[in-house]
Amino acid sequence: MARTLGPVCKRCRREGVKLFLKGTRCDSPMCPFEKAGANKKPLPPGMHGFKRGKMTEYGEQLREKQKVKTFYGVLETQFRKYYQMAERSKGNTGLVLMSLLERRLDNVVYRLGFATSRSQARQLIAHGHICVNGRRLDVASYLTRPGDSIAIKVYKREGEKSKRQGPMGIAKFSLENLGARQTPDYLVRNDGDVPSGVVLRYPLFDDVSLPVNPQLIVELCSK
Ligand code: SF4
Repeated sequence: MARTLGPVCKRCRREGVKLFLKGTRCDSPMCPFEKAGANKKPLPPGMHGFKRGKMTEYGEQLREKQKVKTFYGVLETQFRKYYQMAERSKGNTGLVLMSLLERRLDNVVYRLGFATSRSQARQLIAHGHICVNGRRLDVASYLTRPGDSIAIKVYKREGEKSKRQGPMGIAKFSLENLGARQTPDYLVRNDGDVPSGVVLRYPLFDDVSLPVNPQLIVELCSK
């Protein structure tokens, strides 16, 4: 599972928008965006961050693409594959691209509230703690479909420690700390003993919680 390492808050500062990469810290006063105040943004990273002038058209397109990649935690090669899939589809390429990214299993686990961040959701999946339609699935990039049911795996012999710190404990902690996070309309969550949820329909562009202009990404990727 390839992933980008290093400081993450600077990626939000670079894009000028909260990307929610650090779990519960993102809703706390520790977030640089909260520290900067309601009407201000923290400075972009780098010693010349505050001096950067007007961005070029290419720069705007690139930033939009990088923002989406960081938000969903996908690297360039995989992003290009999603773009090619979207290009082959009949609909609007930009909107289909966003729908494909939103359908990823790690995103769905996060949006159901079973993990505090997309990277934590990805770890739960990679470690085999997520079941899709009753079967364990450890592929974070699996594209969910309407009717798929997603649940935390239940282990028969689970000790007290593992109930607190294991996948069930992680999911319950996340559900208790949802803050302002809402479950999108294309998902429904069952708040029973075992956290689970169902995909009701394919996600639409309105379901994407990131302010993004997909047209700029299409202009860049179609060059
Ligand atoms: Fe850091 Fe989260 Fe705030 Fe982004 S949203 S700057 S990751 S605390």
